[in-house]
Order: sequence, then C-alpha cells, then structure tokens
Amino acid sequence: MDEEKRVSAEIDPIQAPFLELTELECSDVGALTSCYVDGEMLHALRTKFDAHLAACPLCQESVAQTKFVVDSASTIGDREIPREAQLRLREALRDRVGFNSPKLAALRQEN
Ligand SMILES: [Zn+2]
Repeated sequence: MDEEKRVSAEIDPIQAPFLELTELECSDVGALTSCYVDGEMLHALRTKFDAHLAACPLCQESVAQTKFVVDSASTIGDREIPREAQLRLREALRDRVGFNSPKLAALRQEN
C-alpha cells in the first residue's frame, strides 16, 4: 500500500477504498456525497469526483440537492420552533403514530 492510501485509510476508512478506482461511477458518487458536501473529501478523490460530476447531470443534480439540504439545515441552528409549527407537527405526528403512542405521551409531558 502506498503512503497516500495508508494515510487515508487511517483518516477515513469510508473514502479509502475509492482511491483504488481510476474513475468513479454513480453509486460511488452517491456513497461519497456527504464527504464531498461536508468538505472532508480527500484531494485525490475530489479530482475523480469532480470529473464524474462534469460528465453526469444526474449526479450533479443529486449532489446539488444534498448540498441545498445541508446548507438549509445549517442555517436553522438552535432557533426556537414557533409555537404554531410545534402544534401542527404534534398534530401530524398524532395522525401518523396515534394519539396514545408512548413517544407522543412523553412529548406531552415535556410541555
Ligand atoms: Zn453519475
């Protein structure tokens, strides 16, 4: 095993196996999207990842959607959920899981 692969295996066992590939397929891109979006992708992989995206509109779209969701979630932070949204969520949960679900009962206790 060469130095880069050995170091990568220590850093991130998820990415390491993909370093062996000369080019990535759609399923590889799917498996690596979170590393990419989180900015934790190894440089050697990033080049292959970008090359696949440049040639594959489906993966481009999928990565863009994931990035949008991650960016949106990161701007929510610890903001309080508005009371009305809490009530609507609780109502939706009740419809979905039933009024007497133990989890919902626990939620009611908290408030
Ligand atoms: Zn693809």
